[in-house]
Amino acid sequence: MTNGTSIGITDIEAAQKRISQTIHRTRTEDSAYLTEKFGAPVHLKLEHQQRTGSFKLRGATNAVLNLTEAQRENGVVGVSTGNHGRGLAYAARQNGVGCIICMSELVPQNKIDGIKAQGAEVRIIGRSQDDAQIEVDRLVSEEGMTLIPPFDHPDIIAGQGTLGLELAEDLPYLATALVQVSGGGLISGVAAALKARLPGIRVIGVSMERGAAMYQCQQIGKPVLVPELSTLADSLGGGIGLDNAYTFAMTRDLVDEIILVSEAEIAGAIRHAYWHESQIIEGSGAVGIAALLSGKAKPDGPTALLLSGGNIDMNLHHRIISGEDVDVTAED
Ligand SMILES: *Cc1c(COP(=O)(O)O)cnc(C)c1O
Repeated sequence: MTNGTSIGITDIEAAQKRISQTIHRTRTEDSAYLTEKFGAPVHLKLEHQQRTGSFKLRGATNAVLNLTEAQRENGVVGVSTGNHGRGLAYAARQNGVGCIICMSELVPQNKIDGIKAQGAEVRIIGRSQDDAQIEVDRLVSEEGMTLIPPFDHPDIIAGQGTLGLELAEDLPYLATALVQVSGGGLISGVAAALKARLPGIRVIGVSMERGAAMYQCQQIGKPVLVPELSTLADSLGGGIGLDNAYTFAMTRDLVDEIILVSEAEIAGAIRHAYWHESQIIEGSGAVGIAALLSGKAKPDGPTALLLSGGNIDMNLHHRIISGEDVDVTAED
């Protein structure tokens, strides 16, 4: 139930009904290698095979389908250059709703192309995210468009939570789930679903060491500004918002622990996914595997890992799986 600050199982069940027509229900697969290595069943949720390459489509679709008729007519706007932007663009087009994604001129061409390919209008404004935000605010106030944020929104959290329902349906004996954490929309929804359906389950968050905003905010006990650093887990970058309304509290209340992994561990996990699981995943999708392989997370009974996204530059991917010691942190 929505009580103003939290999203619950009934919201997530409603989202599942709403989005099931357009969302791909991704498979869970056993990892023979990890099961053998850790002596406990390890399951991979193949969400990188979701349409648009990540789970962000779930929340975005739920938000678009929840618009009023007037809101549908005026369209939606977003600021994400990454997976949320792709998901939102796709969900809007799929449902005949106009969509503008605003970004600064510093955004690389391949990201712009990725979003255009999903059918959204891309509007490039100024040299910073702040400039882009000014245009977003104008589109909302003057043109009546609806801003769909990437994580701190009830429809987004409930949509991402449908992943937790699928995990509970497919793996009712699950003891532990390792889930990525950035803004916390994903883990808030997944933890709410899993803890309602499978009492006693542990939900462990995983972030990268470099710029782990939610982790640092939880340590301090409130949302604070955390500097963003370049990382192989680029979809996990960015803050949680000083005015965070939902995901900070839900993460605090529902997540048992947050583990941080290094750049080398993330690269090793991308490599592992390719050579041992036949999966091409981006750095953010690999942090659960990194947590296990590094020994930082111990599979305590049947364990599920979420492969949350697959949108990685294929040249970078090729260098990593070839064993090159790739360092994306040099610019900081
Ligand atoms: C956005 C994203 C995450 C993190 O989701 P949050 O809701 O921001 O915590 C994890 N993995 C991938 C691939 C993503 O795109």
